[in-house]
Amino acid sequence: MKNLWNDADAEKMVADYAKKGVGRDLALRVYTTRLLGGEPRLVLHGGGNTSCKTKATDLVGDEWDVLCVKGSGWDMAVIEPQGLPAVKMGALLKARSLDKLSDEDMVALQRSNLIDPASPNPSVETLLHAFLPHKFVDHTHSTAILAIVDQEDSKPLIKTVFGDRLGYVPYIKPGFDLAKVAVEVFDADPSVEGLILDKHGIFTFGDDAKQAYDRMIHYVTMAEDFVAKNGKPHTAKAALPAKLAKPSDIAPTLRGAVAVSRGEGRFDRMISDFRTSDAIVDFINSTKIAELAGRGVSTPDLSIRIKTGPMAVPAPDADKLGDYKAVVRGHVEAFVKDYTAYFETNDALDDVKRTMLDPMPRLTLVPGLGMFGHGRTLKDAKIASDVGEMWIEAVRGAEAIGKFHPLSKADLFPLEYWSLEQAKLASNKPKPLTGQVVLVTGGAGAIGAATAKLFAANGAHAVIVDLDPAKAADAAKAAGNNSIGIGADITKPAEMRAAFDKAVAVYGGVDILVSNAGAAWEGRIGELDDATLRKSFELNFFAHQSAAQNAVRIMLEQGTGGVLLFNTSKQAINPGPKFGAYGIPKAATLFLSRQYALDYGAYGIRSNAVNADRIRSGLLTDAMIASRSGARGVSEKEYMSGNLLGQEVTADDVAQAFLHQALAERTTADVTTVDGGNIAAALR
Ligand SMILES: [Zn+2]
Repeated sequence: MKNLWNDADAEKMVADYAKKGVGRDLALRVYTTRLLGGEPRLVLHGGGNTSCKTKATDLVGDEWDVLCVKGSGWDMAVIEPQGLPAVKMGALLKARSLDKLSDEDMVALQRSNLIDPASPNPSVETLLHAFLPHKFVDHTHSTAILAIVDQEDSKPLIKTVFGDRLGYVPYIKPGFDLAKVAVEVFDADPSVEGLILDKHGIFTFGDDAKQAYDRMIHYVTMAEDFVAKNGKPHTAKAALPAKLAKPSDIAPTLRGAVAVSRGEGRFDRMISDFRTSDAIVDFINSTKIAELAGRGVSTPDLSIRIKTGPMAVPAPDADKLGDYKAVVRGHVEAFVKDYTAYFETNDALDDVKRTMLDPMPRLTLVPGLGMFGHGRTLKDAKIASDVGEMWIEAVRGAEAIGKFHPLSKADLFPLEYWSLEQAKLASNKPKPLTGQVVLVTGGAGAIGAATAKLFAANGAHAVIVDLDPAKAADAAKAAGNNSIGIGADITKPAEMRAAFDKAVAVYGGVDILVSNAGAAWEGRIGELDDATLRKSFELNFFAHQSAAQNAVRIMLEQGTGGVLLFNTSKQAINPGPKFGAYGIPKAATLFLSRQYALDYGAYGIRSNAVNADRIRSGLLTDAMIASRSGARGVSEKEYMSGNLLGQEVTADDVAQAFLHQALAERTTADVTTVDGGNIAAALR
């Protein structure tokens, strides 16, 4: 592994932080923590931790010896000084003389000795850092180290690879007990330059930041070299179908299978992130993949990301896709059964009250194709994929030099269900639409953009489709929550299909359609030319039908219901003069909504419409408002609020109605009026 230390960069960071009042020790601690954190083969997403022993001054000017140690929730790759909270050393060192210290008391001890009480919780491995005498301590879950420690008889192998330069610590769950044993190993031979934690990872230490970092890279490289020199090429490849299905062919099926049913057609859905490379596929094509996946995670803290390990499914045959749904569902059921048994068996061992986490896999390996990370958000799904790549690295190495034999599931259980580990995820409270994907046509217009933004604020990922790709991208950025923008002429079926394919490629599927795009053509109906009427029908009727067909196709593959929402218009119910070209296809779209409600209700797919009126938008521009209000001899304000409430109706009001229809799980074939009150357009 390449050593990335650079004197000039290190000194620049020291100088930059000095201007902000951060001392040299902490600045260099930030520097090498980022070097370590930026390498996925060392640490991933909040894994690993570092510390330095230095001095800090409290509010009344007293100076203390402190341990600046990585705070929970911080990612090493982007750490800042405040991500390394200072804890008073005196109290931490005193804890070594205790016989026992519960996790709760350990957290209380650490928190009550923070210099800044607003700091994040110091790492669960804080005491281990404190007990070691070195000024700088680094800890990673290097994949090369894991290849060596994840063996059945790892102790002699560790000795073969590293000699006496690293101390050997047997597996113990992180916390007070591990800290005590680790420092005893160190005390038995203080000449060691680090510690190997069996089935877990590596610590290195030194008198300065560079020494601790150099040692980490040195021993990781030693492990890499050992695997490279002694590794045998890996096992036989499984035969694949002559014609493989594409990832997009199976993504909705898989995404539906891993959704958590809350009963009666209600689901907590997940996002799927597809990831592939030659290295991933080469490994996953092994004849042993299902068995390897079943052995478990390569280092215990991965369990908060991918539970007890990946799920492997068979390669999908493009000619037998019809049968594949049952195959996938069967594998998910087996995974859930195993996970439930793992929970029940281990939970019964003591009388701690625990609630089983959802039992769904977070990583699916598909021979021939690659893997899907699953998570309640796109970010979590991508993290699962990242973890999957590093799981593959560690397992490939372990199998090359022996047999991958990670921590047993019985030992994994207390860690997965450890309150301190679960606390790392506690900030991710789900929102009403978390896990759902909404596709909005006309998504860059006033109503479309407001709707996408409101849905994203409620947890959905939005796919914003608009004729103008730049505007679609801008609206996606404004919506936030990792939403995407796509340019498409949705009156062309191929472009509509491509937009839905993109949604599947990025998120794994679609749950909500907001079929919103529209445009108005005017003219007295008897004199209207056919071409204009047909053009209006293409956008104001057929594009709605094409969007709904695509959405329903995906929803049926997912098997988790869904909802179609159509923007009809007041014109669909209450025609305006010379507006037939617009109102007639909109009236057809209103009935289209009802037809979908009727034909797909049995599949849990709902269909609703909003009829809105007089909203400032591309259909009713400021210039049109000026001319129409002028023609009627009223002010613009009076024109815009010419309704029973006497108040202007906005795009946000329409977005609110769509959101309501999406959330109301027992509402279908509904038409919601958003016009401030217009008795002539009232439905009943
Ligand atoms: Zn660790």
